[in-house]
Amino acid sequence: MKRIIQILFLLLLTVSFQQCSYSQSNTTKKENMDTSKKNPVYSRTDSSKVNITDEEWRKILPADVYSIAREKGTERPWTSKFEDSKEVGTYYCAACGNPLFKSDTKFESGCGWPSFYQPISKSSIIYLPDNSHGMQRTEVECGRCKAHLGHVFEDGPPPTGLRYCINGVVLDFEKAKAAEKKYNEGSEQSKEAKKGE
Ligand SMILES: [Zn+2]
Repeated sequence: MKRIIQILFLLLLTVSFQQCSYSQSNTTKKENMDTSKKNPVYSRTDSSKVNITDEEWRKILPADVYSIAREKGTERPWTSKFEDSKEVGTYYCAACGNPLFKSDTKFESGCGWPSFYQPISKSSIIYLPDNSHGMQRTEVECGRCKAHLGHVFEDGPPPTGLRYCINGVVLDFEKAKAAEKKYNEGSEQSKEAKKGE
């Protein structure tokens, strides 16, 4: 009888231990799921154009991103965490992941929105005339998914003299390191290539 109780006790211990480890792995999984994006068009490497309906965008974008990217909304000034950020890295379109601006072209414009003087490449941005609100402005949209980003003005610093005034909500930031490493490797390679010439 005593033996049976011992076995039962051991069994109970094993079961409760398994339950414990099961619930632990379950929480990890849930945390991972919460941080992953449910946006199937988001890619920082795919440069093919994204052309989906507003209805589809609404399903995959957070409400604040949707209202600016697809409904041309404007975030309240001084509300973006990127407004006075000096971190080194790359800013991507929050809707599709298209690389838009490098932190070294960011400057303090004092206008209340993150400001840059130059996009990463010509294909980063699309320019459109915007005559709304009784003003003549140039709207800037994402070159890959046509998300509304903000406006560009001709009162920026050298070398371009341009001020890209961008809603922080539609920006995704990634700190350098990985990008910097790639950049350095690239310039090493081009040095090597020049030596070979
Ligand atoms: Zn985009």
